[in-house]
Amino acid sequence: MKYYFQIVLLFAIFLSINACETTKLATSNEELATSNQKPATSIADIKFQNINVIDAKNGLQKGMIVLVKDNRIIKVAKAADMAPTGAKRTVIGTGKYLIPGLWDAHVHLVFTEGLESSMFRLFLAHGITSIRDTGGQLPLVLPEREKARNNPKNAPRVMVAGPLLDGKPTVYDGSTPYNPHLGLGAGTVTEAEKNADEMIAAEVDLLKAYEMLTPEAFKAIVAKGKTAGLPITGHVPLSMDVIEASDAGMSSMEHMRNLEFACSSDWEDLLKTRQKMLFDGKEEVGSTLRRNIHKAQRAHAVANQDAARRTEVLKHLADNGTWQIPTFSIMTAFSERFITRTDWQRSFTFLPAKIRDAWTKNSIAFARDTPIDKGSKDYAKWMFEMVGHMQKAGVEIMAGTDCPIFYLTPGYSLHEELALLVKAGMTPLEAIGAATVKPAEYFKIDNELGLIEEGMLADLVLLEANPLEDIRNTQKINAVIRDGKFHDRAALDILLTPTE
Ligand SMILES: [Zn+2]
Repeated sequence: MKYYFQIVLLFAIFLSINACETTKLATSNEELATSNQKPATSIADIKFQNINVIDAKNGLQKGMIVLVKDNRIIKVAKAADMAPTGAKRTVIGTGKYLIPGLWDAHVHLVFTEGLESSMFRLFLAHGITSIRDTGGQLPLVLPEREKARNNPKNAPRVMVAGPLLDGKPTVYDGSTPYNPHLGLGAGTVTEAEKNADEMIAAEVDLLKAYEMLTPEAFKAIVAKGKTAGLPITGHVPLSMDVIEASDAGMSSMEHMRNLEFACSSDWEDLLKTRQKMLFDGKEEVGSTLRRNIHKAQRAHAVANQDAARRTEVLKHLADNGTWQIPTFSIMTAFSERFITRTDWQRSFTFLPAKIRDAWTKNSIAFARDTPIDKGSKDYAKWMFEMVGHMQKAGVEIMAGTDCPIFYLTPGYSLHEELALLVKAGMTPLEAIGAATVKPAEYFKIDNELGLIEEGMLADLVLLEANPLEDIRNTQKINAVIRDGKFHDRAALDILLTPTE
């Protein structure tokens, strides 16, 4: 997608005056009190008194008591049903809302030079307590995961895919700054298997298959992933149809990539044409070849969607349990232009000074010089509608952004993703589910993460206002609890302050 944004031609002055979302980062009234009770072995570390609890399974539960001890939720009960109990820290929850810690299910921890060391603090400060890294070289992302694991109270939970397992030519081959060396290209099935084996040996948490794979190499990677018990995500290879990729066992598809082709009335012709373009373009640069294929088919496919075919495709996705991660944040940044909004520009102040200055200058210049074209608008409209169709069909959806690509401020952008999911037709509760219990289900850790129930891990976000009334209230963060550690507003503000 990046190239899409980089094809910058000049025109129209676009000044940034979209709505001013007030991000309530100001310090909230301190309502924390320390109990006088003597600590006993059974005493809780944190007690939320009279709190409104929200999770995707139980909905809104008012007037609750939630107890946290060490890194677990040990009690969730109606205040009236519980004998008085003390805790080391009592939080008066009146008027406040407690939701499970959020996930950003599509990030690149190591992508923007100079931002790597700020990623964890930015996620945590915005209530993102878990992330899924969907592409990075092993020597770079494994140490990040290790750092997070060694310091779980001050970093998000990190799941990594390692590099993109691609074919040849390879899209992310390091040939341009926009195509850094994130891909491992395999020209044969044997090479593809070797690449997958290397990932599995490195104990990645999932595999990511990419667009230039042959169907045979793709299926070999999926088989390796299945045997190792890992989810296989990725972009549907251009050489394949979505149904074929889903039936082969692909666990999830990022950006709804190439789904428009599969739902076009002439999908078979489009597939044959793509296969021929791939064959003829063997010697081309991977990113160029991919761009040309998208260019040749995307607008046409979006204009020729076939309802019956779409129903068939979505049925396969639902039946096979193939998830979708729309990543509206990156996919509609071009058409929605939220990057120029006052609040968005303000979020750049959380970044190291050098990056803040570059992003401010470049994002404004981009918006000024690049008109919103019809193709991007049509494509965004298609995406928003498709998510509605996917929900009706029972296709599982997760929230992810693709930050920090294209001026997507880490952490901040996940809240935009939630708003965009609601814009696409999800209820606020469903959007919260897509960023909490759904990713936990995806990784099969929903027995201990993603809901506010007894026995669950204590990754929580305390909000000043009801996110079910307005999803943007997920931004009104009073505190973040990560692995049982309470980060109050003052601590979060420190996390938002760059030191470089
Ligand atoms: Zn990505």
